[in-house]
Order: sequence, then C-alpha cells, then structure tokens
Amino acid sequence: METIAAISTAPGLGGIGIIRITGKEAFDILLKVFKSRKVKKIEDIVPNTIIYGKIYDNNRMVDEVLVSFFKSPNSYTKEDLVEINTHGGSIVMKEILNLVLTNGAMLAQPGEFTKRAFLNGRIDLTQVESIATILNAKSEEELKISGELLQGKLYNKVVDIKGRLMDILMHLEVNIDYPEYDTEEKDKEEVISTITMILEELKKFEATFDVGSKITEGIKVAIIGRPNAGKSSLLNNLLNKERAIVTEIEGTTRDSIEEDLNINGINIKIIDTAGIRETEEKVEKIGIERAIRLADKSDLVIAIFDMSKEFNENDRKIMEIIQKKESLILLNKYDLVEEKKVPEEIEKLAKECIFTSMLEKKGTEDVITWITKKTEGLKINKNNDIIIIHERQKKVITDVIEMIKQVLTDLELIPIDMVSENIRDVINKINELTGENVKEEVLNEIFKNFCLGK
Ligand code: GDP
Repeated sequence: METIAAISTAPGLGGIGIIRITGKEAFDILLKVFKSRKVKKIEDIVPNTIIYGKIYDNNRMVDEVLVSFFKSPNSYTKEDLVEINTHGGSIVMKEILNLVLTNGAMLAQPGEFTKRAFLNGRIDLTQVESIATILNAKSEEELKISGELLQGKLYNKVVDIKGRLMDILMHLEVNIDYPEYDTEEKDKEEVISTITMILEELKKFEATFDVGSKITEGIKVAIIGRPNAGKSSLLNNLLNKERAIVTEIEGTTRDSIEEDLNINGINIKIIDTAGIRETEEKVEKIGIERAIRLADKSDLVIAIFDMSKEFNENDRKIMEIIQKKESLILLNKYDLVEEKKVPEEIEKLAKECIFTSMLEKKGTEDVITWITKKTEGLKINKNNDIIIIHERQKKVITDVIEMIKQVLTDLELIPIDMVSENIRDVINKINELTGENVKEEVLNEIFKNFCLGK
C-alpha cells in the first residue's frame, strides 16, 4: 500500500493543526523535511514519542513542530504513522502537506486512514461505522451508543453467535463422516434449540433499531396551531432556553422551520409549522392541513391554542389529529383572559394541558419537562446495551433472521445433515456485519462519509 498523507484537523484557523502520514515510507518521507536534534535518521526513532523540531523546505524553515511517532503495528492504521503538530494556520498546514506530498506521499482519500485500520485488521466494520457516528454525533446519547460499538460490543456478539453456528456445522459434518453414530433425533432437537435461541437474540437486536434510529435521526416534535396562536413564540422561547447548545437547520420545506435542540442528551427536532402568516380563512385552512400532515409524521405533537379567541373549526381539526398522537396542549395567551379555564372541547379529551403565556415566557420550562419525560425511555443505554443505529447493520440482521427462519423450517422437513449448506450461508451473511465478507461498493459507501484525514 502507498504511503498516504492528509491534514487531519478541521479546515480553518486552530491552535494546532495535524498532518498525518501513514505507510511504509512514513518515517523516510518525514525525515526529508524534518530536522531535530534527537531524530536525525530512522534508527533514532523511538515509537510512541513526541519530538520537537522544525520543518524545512530546502533551506527555508517553514514551521516549528512537534512530531509523534507510532511504529507498526501499534498505530491507528497498524502501519508506521507520524503526526506533525504544526501551528494551526491553513497556509502553513497546506505548505507542509505539499512538502510531504512532493517527497513521496500520496494524498489520502476521505476516510482512508480508517480504511487501512480496517483492512489491516485493527478494527472491524461495526467499529468503523461507530467511528463515523462518533464524528457526526448530534447528541450525547448517540455518542454513548457509538462508544459501546467502538469497544467491539456488537463485534464480540457476532463472533459469539458465529461460534455457536460453527459448532453446529462441525457436529453435523462429523456425523456425515461417521453415520454409524445414529443420534439424529437427539441432534435435531439440540440444533433446533440452539438455532432458535440465536434467532431470538437476533430479533432483540433488530428491535433495538427502532430506538436507535430515533436517536440518530432525532425525535420529531411538531408545533401545531392556527395562525397567531403563538407557535413561533414557543419555538423562540425554546431556542432561547437552550441557546448554548442549539444548532440551526434550514427550513426543510417552504412552510416549516426545523430546529435542532438538545434536551437531556437527546437530539430533538422541533418543527414549527410557521410560514403561513396571513389569517384569511382560506389560507388558514391550507396552513392547518399542512400542519396536520407534519404532525402526523412526528413522534410528539405540541398543540397550541389561543385562549383569547373563540374555538373554531380549525382548532377542532387540530384536536382530532392530536387524539391519535402523544401530545401536549398549550392554552396560550392566558395573560389576555380573565379566568384560567380549560375550554370544554379540550377538557373532554383528557390530554395533558398547561396554561402558557409565550409573550411573558411562562410555561416554556414545562414544555421542556414534558419533552424530557416523553423521551426518557430512549435512554435505555444505561445498561450498556447494544443498540443498532446503522441501517446497513439492521438490514444484514434482518436478512440473517429470515435465513435462520428458513433453516428452522427446513429442519422440520429434511434430514439434519442436509441443512449444513444453509447454515454456512447464514454464517457468510453474518460475516457481512463485521466486514469479513463484504462487497467493495459497500465499503466505498461507508468510507465516502468520512472526512479527509480520518
Ligand atoms: P404563530 O403564528 O402561531 O407562529 O404565532 P406567533 O408566535 O407569531 O404569535 C403571534 C402574535 O401573538 C405575536 O404578536 C405574539 O407576540 C403574540 N403572542 C404570542 N404568545 C402570546 C401570549 O402568550 N400572550 C400574548 N398576549 N400575546 C402572545
């Protein structure tokens, strides 16, 4: 494999910048541009040390640096690897990278360092995928789950399941070779029981994807209500509360605004059905229809009513939609009314209901508490469970489940020794999870999502 190099720190100005080089020639190439008192030739390099020195372009000093040395196989890629810590300006980093490239390294592709870690057997594919989610994590909960995967939890589980299937295979093959040991009935029972157990375990994993995908995609909370009820005010108040950890996302459709909030370690997507500002009846109707469609696709709904106005047809429609959803009712603008009284039409629904004044910023805290309560169940990672968050892994597991079900059906119908081929297929499929048996396109797809220098 070629020796490759890239800038590994984020583009832009930073305190330090890191240029990484990996491959057989890593040390050679570095020494062509690096001068220090301690390391003058390859033999001087002591693995796992950091050496002070200077980078030179011929006789011109480019920057004062610190270089970390990692010797194969004890490095991120399992190859010889160096990291040059430079001052974090983009020109200086680019210049040093160019020097390294002109001295024999190739520019790395996105994710190529991690790809080498995988190809050289330091990590398996589930760990590669967990690195991708650690890099892109939008919430603490997602980070926790990815951390578990990076430790090899899923990998170990896969190895364990595979081991049990291999045992069955070996057993079946011994029986084929020595048919005089006629223990078929007993064997069959044992095999069925082991395979059923594996099936149940896999089904449990598959089911965790429901929660896993919610955690990675974020919990969708729609705010609905007729124009002027106070939807945007609520959104603004929520964002104010959480300003320190808010990231803004462009509106996904013309008439709705989506904002990411982090509440209690979980990524919450607040969808405000704003954009329709006019109050004419016809426009209001269209707005409500759209809001209803959005609410339908959300996990939670906050319905907001204007206490200072008469309950109308649109409010009634909103009540209809929230009946089927996990929802919270806000009786807003209570500052405008004399008496805090729940309207009859709302009361009979017996839904959770709070009085708010978004103008006076009253009630926002209660909304956050409600969202926290509703998402508490997602924090099942407390027990360090394995949770599937990657679509690819979920698909493989679903396929394996189908194949195992088929094996169980076959076992009822045909002699036990005839299923060994199917069990072998199951094992091959399981290998896709850890990447032992995976197509090049799948790998490319995974590494495509990594950044340069990772
Ligand atoms: P939206 O159309 O549902 O997004 O409603 P907005 O949040 O834009 O609010 C419409 C108007 O109602 C604005 O002038 C707000 O200042 C006002 N408003 C919102 N909440 C309250 C409230 O609790 N009390 C009062 N008095 N006015 C409010």
